[in-house]
Amino acid sequence: MTLHISPPVPVCTALNALTAAGYSAYIVGGCVRDALLGKSPHDWDCTTSARPEQVKACFPHHHVIETGMQHGTVTVVIDKMPIEITTYRIDGTYADHRRPDSVTFTDRLEDDLSRRDFTVNAMAYHPERGLIDCFSGEADLAAHVIRCVGDPAARFDEDGLRILRAMRFASVLDFAIAPETAQAIHNQKELLHAISVERIYAELNKLLCGAGAERVLTEFSDVLFTVLPELAPMLHFDQRNPHHDYDVYTHTLKALSAIPPEPVLRWAALLHDTGKPHTFTEDERGGHFYGHAAVSTEIAERSLRSLKPDRKTLDRVLLLVEQHDYVFNGTEKQLKKVVRKFGEEAAMQLLLLHKADVTAQAACHREERIAESDMLIGMLEKLFAENTCMTVKQLAVRGDDLLAAGVPRGRKIGETLEYLLDAVTEGRLENTRKALLAEAANHQA
Ligand code: ATP
Ligand code: MG
Repeated sequence: MTLHISPPVPVCTALNALTAAGYSAYIVGGCVRDALLGKSPHDWDCTTSARPEQVKACFPHHHVIETGMQHGTVTVVIDKMPIEITTYRIDGTYADHRRPDSVTFTDRLEDDLSRRDFTVNAMAYHPERGLIDCFSGEADLAAHVIRCVGDPAARFDEDGLRILRAMRFASVLDFAIAPETAQAIHNQKELLHAISVERIYAELNKLLCGAGAERVLTEFSDVLFTVLPELAPMLHFDQRNPHHDYDVYTHTLKALSAIPPEPVLRWAALLHDTGKPHTFTEDERGGHFYGHAAVSTEIAERSLRSLKPDRKTLDRVLLLVEQHDYVFNGTEKQLKKVVRKFGEEAAMQLLLLHKADVTAQAACHREERIAESDMLIGMLEKLFAENTCMTVKQLAVRGDDLLAAGVPRGRKIGETLEYLLDAVTEGRLENTRKALLAEAANHQA
């Protein structure tokens, strides 16, 4: 582990300005944790004994934003870099399990560190004074452990979001959760009902994309089901089918960890088989799940929508869940059709979901199915690399060009573009402006 941290010059400038004025100041929280792990922090937060007004006075020649004066936070922009500087503070009681009823400023760094959530997030550092680590965060970082500062039950009771934050850091950093902290998470998961869905969604997105997502969601499936109850029937649901070695939930998590860590793909993997427990039938060949993709889509829609995701994410996840059992026949012709129907990005995502799905199926056919999937992905990459025209967007003319060439406004424009795309994809027509306009005129006549 790195023992010396070199913050960027603007951060040192901020620390120096505060100390020159007689205050103490440190970098704190996520940046110290990430720097000690050898990762480059995405932002550098500072903490200081100076009160917000005093912080402002230390930077008369810089742009200062009053980010949250009541909570003690001021943002100073130095050489275009925004740096959040927060006064040492103690949080008051938490009547609503979400936010402190009041905050009090303090002169003691130790008090500020003790209000922070986990030991690995509760370290401060100053280039000359070194690491301030009152809660053995450095040891937990070395041991790869997420542990609450203080009594886990009390800390989760103050702020229920910390339950998901613990799981998120365990997933993203691929750390274990300390036993007492883990026990309190299981015991107090219902506190998540007091937390806004927007904050839950933000934490879940990061959790799902972490390297340890499969492990964390296996150990804390009860927490996931507290937030998304419609996923619970997947747990231990035996598929009784030779294509599957795993129960539905285990298969789901294996598919999730096999797909690239992007929110849309991870959500699609998490939700793709939610309909299985509701469509199960069995005959002499084993278990079947006819029509499960449609039921999964309904469940995915209700579950994901409850967390208020953005429209684009919701629509794309639902498309992928709905189409996850699309049967590919290995031909370029079909692949082009898929691109035309769903778009370039969704087509590739569908193939990636397909690959993750087969990766998580029975070992007996796994290798050959993964090879088939890889072949399709390679084929699609080649079509993209060759800039093959597969969508209306890629035609060398646009609707405006057709209008100018005399095609009547309205439905006819779209129809003509589709007609031209047919001709191009079938190889009857060259994708050049001249050829397309000539054919459009012909078609009109
Ligand atoms: P990242 O920004 O990489 O997600 P981070 O550790 O910087 O990780 P933030 O949410 O930016 O996390 O919070 C900054 C710091 O504030 C944390 O490291 C932690 O010390 C403290 N903190 C944030 N949220 C809470 C919370 N809900 N309860 C207690 N302390 C918190
Ligand atoms: Mg941060």
